[in-house]
Amino acid sequence: MSTLTGKHLIAGNWVSGDTEFPSSPSRGEPLKYAVGTPAHIDAAVTAAEEAFLSYGYSTRAERAVFLTAIADEIEARGEAITEIGTAETGLPEARLNGERGRTTGQLRLFASHIEDGDYLDRRHDEALPDRQPLPRPDLRMIQRPIGPVAVFGASNFPLAFSTAGGDTAAALAAGCPVVVKGHSAHPGVGELVAQAVDAAIKTCGVHPGVFSLVQGGTRETGQALVTHPLIKAVGFTGSLAGGRALFDLCASREEPIPFFGELGSVNPMFLLPEAVKNRPDDMGKGWAGSLTMGAGQFCTNPGIAVVIDGPEADAFVDAAKAALDPSQTQTMLTDGIAEAYRAGRDQVAGTSGVQELLTSTCDLRNATPYLFSTSGSNWLANEVLGEEVFGPLGLVVRVSGFEEMLSVAQSLKGQLTCTLHLDEGDFEHGRKLMPVLERKAGRVLANAFPTGVEVSDTMVHGGPYPASTNFGATSVGTMSIRRFLRPVCYQGIPVDLLPEDLKGNDQVFLG
Ligand code: NAP
Repeated sequence: MSTLTGKHLIAGNWVSGDTEFPSSPSRGEPLKYAVGTPAHIDAAVTAAEEAFLSYGYSTRAERAVFLTAIADEIEARGEAITEIGTAETGLPEARLNGERGRTTGQLRLFASHIEDGDYLDRRHDEALPDRQPLPRPDLRMIQRPIGPVAVFGASNFPLAFSTAGGDTAAALAAGCPVVVKGHSAHPGVGELVAQAVDAAIKTCGVHPGVFSLVQGGTRETGQALVTHPLIKAVGFTGSLAGGRALFDLCASREEPIPFFGELGSVNPMFLLPEAVKNRPDDMGKGWAGSLTMGAGQFCTNPGIAVVIDGPEADAFVDAAKAALDPSQTQTMLTDGIAEAYRAGRDQVAGTSGVQELLTSTCDLRNATPYLFSTSGSNWLANEVLGEEVFGPLGLVVRVSGFEEMLSVAQSLKGQLTCTLHLDEGDFEHGRKLMPVLERKAGRVLANAFPTGVEVSDTMVHGGPYPASTNFGATSVGTMSIRRFLRPVCYQGIPVDLLPEDLKGNDQVFLG
């Protein structure tokens, strides 16, 4: 158990490739992994479609047992996963262990969510044969799984948003087979988790095509996956550039399919005057902590703090500066992400009207925190200052007054989160900001920091573009299952022919 092979898992078979790519670990020697080709993708997706014929009609109880078995198998490989994960990503051991708990927790949460059955949204309009002027037929509706789903895992969550992470758990819970395109930042974690899923498939007697992992190595792999005619939807977490390229491919297919991309966000915080006056230190310290957590490599990292200029703003900035240690070096997930971080820093630093508040240096795969400041009018005049820099970089936007703060809020692009820091004396301003912010973000929060996303029934991890490519969806929490379901109406269909979940359960129908 838990020996790396460097192979793909395609429908129950471990398959090597003609070519290999080296991993790029933060420590230790690179290992070789098979490059995924369009032929591998075709084999995996064809098997997924075959698996759908049984898995798409499995009972919720059977799928719940399968999801729980995957969680158990991941736990059984916990130590090995953490070992390769820390080497590949540079993330600390405690973080990997915590993320494993989150991953298995998600799988178990989906198991109980589908057993509960509310997600099926079953409806029934009983026949009204005597209705005038026209009779009404018997109409029933239920949410059905859509078929094979493609998943692209995240670089920054090698477990919770990757091979058997949130997207995969939601799709499998819905009844959809999954083909994962492995992330090149952590192919070893990907393979060990695939081994866990493979073991669960065998224990539960599920069709092996229900899950495949095709490692990457070239961009062709992902492109072949999203354009495969049998793929019905894509779950993606990654960059705006990568996500947009794949989204465009999905839209240009002969049969366009939904692309659920969770992309970048600057997660602005609005600091209202009373709160800044009352607790500048707490806010400054809290911001610094949230900004640097995980080397700032969280999609919900609060990159911008908007505050009304004045002595209270100075106190907040001083507290943030004091809490940010310029020599605090953290390892970034990949060479490419470290390079992009430095390029983002250079772009912010090189924009006119921007002052550097914290002098810091970082090279190679290292990240140190940066803090910059600019005026509200300068921020409004420079669109580039509203773009995400993935890493521990903060920008203070000092606005001239509340009206300018409102203009900054109105100018925002779509965000995963927007945060208000406010006390009771700020409520009038808060009331004016709320209608603006709720149109900008998937989650609006008060007096907290957006990193740390609860996996729950109410969570929305998404938002208007470019935070996500589909504002009606979330990639975290139980509602994320909706992405892989489609409503079907059954008119006058004999009960015998209805899906099992629509038979004999009239007591739970809404209508
Ligand atoms: P990325 O470069 O977009 O890569 C994501 C995945 O897409 C990888 O599997 C990558 O393949 C593939 N890919 C990217 N461009 C492609 C293309 N043109 N054609 C085919 N495949 C393509 O993103 P990343 O470097 O992993 O992550 C950093 C970014 O993710 C940050 O901007 C961050 O904000 C964002 N992010 C967002 C969230 C969220 O929930 N919204 C969470 C985490 C991270 P390879 O493996 O070959 O590179």
